[in-house]
Amino acid sequence: MVLLFALCPLGIGISASSPTIRVRILHNKSRVQVGATGSYKIQTLDSLKELSFPSSHSTLTVEASQQGILASGQTWGAQILIKPGERESLIRVGSRRYRGQILVRQKNSLLEIVNELPLEEYLWGVIKPEISPKWPRASILAFTIAARTYAFKKLKDPSANASGYHISSEQDDQVYRGVEGEDSYASELVNETRGRILTYLGEIIESSYHACCGGYTASSKDVWGGEYRPYLVAKRDDFCKKSPYFDWDFKIEATDLRERLKKRGLVLGRIYRIKLLEFDEGRRVKRLQIEHQAGKAELTGKDFRQAIGGGDLRSTLFAVERHHRYFVFEGKGWGHGVGLCQEGAKAMGEQGYTYKEILEFYYPGTTVETFY
Ligand SMILES: [Zn+2]
Repeated sequence: MVLLFALCPLGIGISASSPTIRVRILHNKSRVQVGATGSYKIQTLDSLKELSFPSSHSTLTVEASQQGILASGQTWGAQILIKPGERESLIRVGSRRYRGQILVRQKNSLLEIVNELPLEEYLWGVIKPEISPKWPRASILAFTIAARTYAFKKLKDPSANASGYHISSEQDDQVYRGVEGEDSYASELVNETRGRILTYLGEIIESSYHACCGGYTASSKDVWGGEYRPYLVAKRDDFCKKSPYFDWDFKIEATDLRERLKKRGLVLGRIYRIKLLEFDEGRRVKRLQIEHQAGKAELTGKDFRQAIGGGDLRSTLFAVERHHRYFVFEGKGWGHGVGLCQEGAKAMGEQGYTYKEILEFYYPGTTVETFY
């Protein structure tokens, strides 16, 4: 076994023991353009029907229809697989190339596109879109382990399995861009931590992370409720102080604010004042009250942020003041604040901390274990 690994250069030999993950890359599409960098084939899940395309020149429109999936002038039922014809061929969906195979599913009258591939190869396409391959080596190593743990936990979650995919390729999970998101150096570092997962008392952890905590991370219980997780607690973080995301401000007209809340189903009269009622230990807003023409409305900081938009109101770590017809928010950090702070992890790497020290700081009490 040792000899086998020694003969197997990093990045080339992916052993069969890397689990396979299903990543939803597109959904709610009525049609999608597919192809490949070499030959490819489409087939039904039972392989009873199959069609091969010998060259990379042929692209195919796959569309949803009342008779099921329509491709190459034929109907294929509710699901098809698009597979590379030879080992080197990469399937193309729209303008992006993907490793592994593609599963197209018709749900009601629309298509859902899922990329099925080894977890390790999936991670190659996550690092660059989520952080940057230019970050210090220790910071990237720490992040590869956090990202692998996040995906592995999803892989083991039966409810994710039931939905037909484990993880989405968007910001609500982990940003994944297929081969277009890869970088050879980042992939090398993924390979270096291959199979390594974070555990707490033997259990795979919920390895949440975010762009910048703004000086204080948040406890998962405060943000999402659920059980207390001793490795996802609020703690002071001085490492991200120099990050460009550390401070922010956002100014919005009271009428616009009212509109945004209305779009989320909260209909209010003219807004007079926003009063912050309750904070967590890092001073993230837990609850606030909006005084308006028809009374008072109370909501959580998290719901308020969601209604206003997470790109404008970058975190719930803010203060707010009224200036004439505007509300001015001054805040810190970007994201929910739970778990690893990417900007802080970057700074820790710059200051010479090891990847294990970075992980221990953001997920205290956890252990790095090799699962495969
Ligand atoms: Zn931070």
